[in-house]
Amino acid sequence: MNLNRRAFIKNSSLLLGYSLFPYSNLYSGAVSKQIGVCLVGLGNYSTSVLAPALQLTKYCKLTGIVTGSPSKIPKWQEQYDIPDKNVYNYDSMHEIANNPDIDVIYIVVPTGLHAKYAIRAANAGKHVWCEKPMAKTEAECKAIIQACSKNKVKLAIGYRMQHEPNTQTIMKWATTKPYGKIKTVRAEIGYHVRDPKRSWRLDAQLGGGTMYDLGVYALNASRYSTGEEPISVAAKQMTTRPDIFTETDETTHFTLEFPSGIVAHGKTSVGKSMHELYVDCQKGWYTLAPFSMYSGVQGKASDGTLLNIPIQNQQARQMDDDALAILNDTAVLVPGEEGMKDIKIVEAIYKAARLGKTLSLS
Ligand code: NAD
Repeated sequence: MNLNRRAFIKNSSLLLGYSLFPYSNLYSGAVSKQIGVCLVGLGNYSTSVLAPALQLTKYCKLTGIVTGSPSKIPKWQEQYDIPDKNVYNYDSMHEIANNPDIDVIYIVVPTGLHAKYAIRAANAGKHVWCEKPMAKTEAECKAIIQACSKNKVKLAIGYRMQHEPNTQTIMKWATTKPYGKIKTVRAEIGYHVRDPKRSWRLDAQLGGGTMYDLGVYALNASRYSTGEEPISVAAKQMTTRPDIFTETDETTHFTLEFPSGIVAHGKTSVGKSMHELYVDCQKGWYTLAPFSMYSGVQGKASDGTLLNIPIQNQQARQMDDDALAILNDTAVLVPGEEGMKDIKIVEAIYKAARLGKTLSLS
């Protein structure tokens, strides 16, 4: 982003004595700038989802790419009008520091590599967006947070659901409790993957594992639908295809206990299709099904209330929200600390399953 522009935004908010909130009337029309986004890793999510979604954003522009596959470059350059000077590989990406076209570096590589490249991005002095799950370990998450803080750049984690309006209603209900005290939560996410391909998702070293890849949606939902942090965890892992899942989990079941007594049951699998978040309360219940797909998130409550606010594109909404946080210099919706809380629990889930014990999380 143009520094003068940033200074202007800051100064005018000081002069006028109000803070600039995204979407506020005072502010509408004030943001004309689009921030430049550079995607790191041109795999499936970048190619099929993020790059097309960037075309639907109001405040972002795809201006750069980092790839280790030279063969992908011509098509990306042509399709998205990316000049030679904005194309990098993993070894040259630190040079983005000198590129004013790029404001944000978005890390979309295997989970086990998030920390390495997110830290490199922060050290280039650019804001960092990092895909979920944030990293493999809590220690890696801490290192990312520290690198961003040291370089005074923003860090946002790609939990698109927290930007989705029906999910935001559920998050609000954790506080307002319109159906009374929450008793139990059930969060289940799974796909039946018939023929899992040999890829980093089956490689523990690179951050593979169903609990990391999909289970974080059920875990994050258990946390955002209760508004509490779990105090203990128990878990089980199993597979019906031990020849394929030699080092990562095919299926994980976990149980979380929260301080108020709420119990959350989570399930995730790549052997079975399931997509529901269900919250049972003293005076009723509510559900979102599906609760984490790219589109069609919807649900209902026991009194007939429908949760069906439509949204054009989740990823575009997420990236616009995160861009506005940069343009307005406000807090991001999903900071690194939020991603790290999940990873600490994910590590405990794997440990609890390995030991066959309930573990305290305090
Ligand atoms: P993918 O396998 O399709 O792409 C990974 C990319 O990383 C490829 O371009 C690959 O070449 C590159 N890469 C760089 N170094 C690599 C290495 N050493 N080994 C393997 N690949 C390497 O994966 P994906 O589905 O695009 O997932 C990428 C990230 O995006 C993951 O963190 C994943 O969790 C996340 N993701 C998020 C969502 C969401 O809804 N938020 C959806 C899908 C994926």
